[in-house]
Amino acid sequence: MIEARGIHKTFGRVPVLRNVSLTVGQGEVVALIGPSGSGKSTFLRCLNHLETIDRGFIAIEGEALAQTDAAGNCTYVSEAEVRRICRKTGMVFQHFNLFPHLTVLENLIEAPMVVRGMARDEAIARAEVLLDKVGLRAKRDNYPARLSGGQKQRVAIARALAMEPDIMLFDEPTSALDPELTGEVLRTMRALAQERMTMLVVTHEMGFAREVAHTVAFMDQGELLETRPAAEFFGSPGHERSRAFLNHML
Ligand code: ATP
Ligand code: MG
Repeated sequence: MIEARGIHKTFGRVPVLRNVSLTVGQGEVVALIGPSGSGKSTFLRCLNHLETIDRGFIAIEGEALAQTDAAGNCTYVSEAEVRRICRKTGMVFQHFNLFPHLTVLENLIEAPMVVRGMARDEAIARAEVLLDKVGLRAKRDNYPARLSGGQKQRVAIARALAMEPDIMLFDEPTSALDPELTGEVLRTMRALAQERMTMLVVTHEMGFAREVAHTVAFMDQGELLETRPAAEFFGSPGHERSRAFLNHML
């Protein structure tokens, strides 16, 4: 579960997140949508401490990461605690970010071995199960450069899952892909959702948002303007700017 309340974030003097509050419940899939530059990636990055917040409250699986007192002072838990709490989330980026000098299998076992101290044999056994799951067992000894974009992204998903996160964060996982490759990645994500993985997905795939997400959150100019059940949102968006955005997207 993710709880974010009253998040404020400024880059220099530009406010990028303005009082953003969002809860993602256990097993819930939330699609975060909105125009370019509205703050979606920044918000996601704040949740796993790739960015710090200026004000607000963040808790992951019930454990506070950052909180703000009445005087407006924002404090984080200790560095070791931040690392431990952020390990509960796995993140998948638009541009895969695989280690190019490692094979598919090595990409999957690196963090479990280095960060979690898992034995190599166990890490390999788990990696193979995950590669089966994303349909890429046959590619285990290939280097990323030899894979298609869709395959790379499925490896990236498997790599994030190898750390056994409670929550998966996706930042436009299909927007760098050719249209014919997005389907295989969306299928992998849909399967995860069916297993009741808690997911927060920044996406421009309105079909995916409508079919897979339970909830849609619409962000514009740093504000979360609307958070509603997906069917309701697509049936009749409540905010004028969500309506304009949807008309543009569909
Ligand atoms: P897109 O759909 O294009 O990915 P987004 O909704 O993810 O957009 P963000 O990347 O979160 O938007 O950016 C929100 C705002 O913050 C933009 O105005 C962007 O220029 C600015 N911004 C993002 N990262 C930084 C940074 N590291 N330093 C300064 N400004 C930044
Ligand atoms: Mg973005």
